[in-house]
Amino acid sequence: MQGTSEAFGLKVFCFPHFMTDILIMQAAACWRRNVPERYSVNREESEKELALQQEYIRIMRERVEERIAKTRSVPTYHIETFGCQMNAKDSEKLAGILEEIGYVHTETEEQADLVLYNTCTVRENANQKVYGRLGQLNSIRKHEHTDMKIILCGCMMQEPDEIENVRTKYTFVNAVFGTHNIFRLAQLLYRMETEKNPVIDVWEGTDKIVEDLPSVRKYAFKSGVNIMYGCNNFCSYCIVPYVRGRERSREPIDILREIERLAKDGVKEVMLLGQNVNSYGKTLDVPVSFSTLLKGVAEIDGIERIRFMTSHPKDLSDELIETMRDSSKICNHFHLPLQSGSDRILKVMNRHYTKAQYLNIVEKLREAVPDISITTDIIVGFPGETEEDFLETLDVVRRVRFDSAFTFIYSPRTGTPAAAMEDQVPEDVVKERFERLLKLVQSIGQEMSGRDVGKVLPVLVEEVNRQDGSMVSGRLTNNTLVHFKGEEKLIGSIVNVRLAESKGFYYIGERV
Ligand code: SAM
Ligand code: SF4
Repeated sequence: MQGTSEAFGLKVFCFPHFMTDILIMQAAACWRRNVPERYSVNREESEKELALQQEYIRIMRERVEERIAKTRSVPTYHIETFGCQMNAKDSEKLAGILEEIGYVHTETEEQADLVLYNTCTVRENANQKVYGRLGQLNSIRKHEHTDMKIILCGCMMQEPDEIENVRTKYTFVNAVFGTHNIFRLAQLLYRMETEKNPVIDVWEGTDKIVEDLPSVRKYAFKSGVNIMYGCNNFCSYCIVPYVRGRERSREPIDILREIERLAKDGVKEVMLLGQNVNSYGKTLDVPVSFSTLLKGVAEIDGIERIRFMTSHPKDLSDELIETMRDSSKICNHFHLPLQSGSDRILKVMNRHYTKAQYLNIVEKLREAVPDISITTDIIVGFPGETEEDFLETLDVVRRVRFDSAFTFIYSPRTGTPAAAMEDQVPEDVVKERFERLLKLVQSIGQEMSGRDVGKVLPVLVEEVNRQDGSMVSGRLTNNTLVHFKGEEKLIGSIVNVRLAESKGFYYIGERV
């Protein structure tokens, strides 16, 4: 079905009618408004940057080859990823550049010539973890591996106070960069080798999306795919918009081309990634809805499972629910962060939905996809949260019956409006509420996860079981883990498994 075609001077790989429609819409809209196609302008900038970075990769590869010839040893790297799936995806891109240069991966950071910490800053304990690990790493560098190079990157490095802290107290760190310029890793390595002082290169923001740099996949059969970057929502507790910048969607054709390549390479499951996938495409010159994108992904041969993360309730459309209902490839799992069940708190959080609206969305989802599994994020102890507010949260948990929930103790983040609010909740009150919430979430989660006992369902096999080598582990489309007797060769295939026994949050099954 695929070939190439020219649309308004734009050479594209053709996808079935869906893509052609989008291209015609884009080109026609640009012509109507008599403006240059931003699509092409972005592509031009992106291609220039890509060419520059490929040149740095070439230069660094030559340097590495010279080093190997001299020392007879291949340089090794280790990347430690803190935080969410966005960071995990960024780490795959960083690894791709390093391997293209000639570095090889090592599991243990003690042995690595180059260690990268890809940091998270969403809660304070994420920052503490990085500094703790950094202290240990410095001791290894001093006593065992004196020529080890250390780089810090990611969300935490977008915060001026943290950069200053690293610059003054962690002087052994060789380079620091943020979230906006990870595609410049080869150039930064070059600067690290040719400049005397540590390289600190943190951008405040960017409107560039550099496509087609190398990337290394952790799994052969599944892959995350960025569909957008940044966030415009400014929930009052959240640091993400400050460290990841404004919302930028990738062009649908770039996303579909990437997924098509992945499918040809054996990938069966994709996870579409964004801070708020429901607002995908709104910032494009020619807006495209998330549902339209999903339909396009579902048309790609070889892709059998489609997941996405994260959905903001305020932007969830009926069109998306219908698309989920009608597509057998879109997994029956929905992660729908609640944060709080109190209308008053939701308002101060700047979430733009009420408890009733949230419950209404859940009802529509269950009506359209009856066996859907619904998971969530909840924050306990947001400033001003009263016992009454907290009881509203428990009430939503009881009514929705989440399959599982990530529960977080509110962590004040400098620079966010909530951190400056006066009525912070005392620690002991927060802890007590957190325990109550956790207990409820866990008991409902256990009951929910047992509901499929006795059924035969397809499992995508992910790995050999870590405790018992005669078993393999995989996931149902609703994301629940299943362990069953099987061999390594099943990894990456989808097999039918009878769910014999529920163990709370996972099943023990038998292949049929
Ligand atoms: N974009 C996603 C959304 O809107 O739901 C979430 C992204 S955030 C990285 C993941 C979760 O971290 C949030 O859903 C929220 O529950 C939690 N979180 C964010 N900021 C927090 C804070 N300051 N304290 C505690 N939890 C926080
Ligand atoms: Fe943070 Fe809200 Fe954006 Fe999610 S939607 S990343 S919680 S600001």
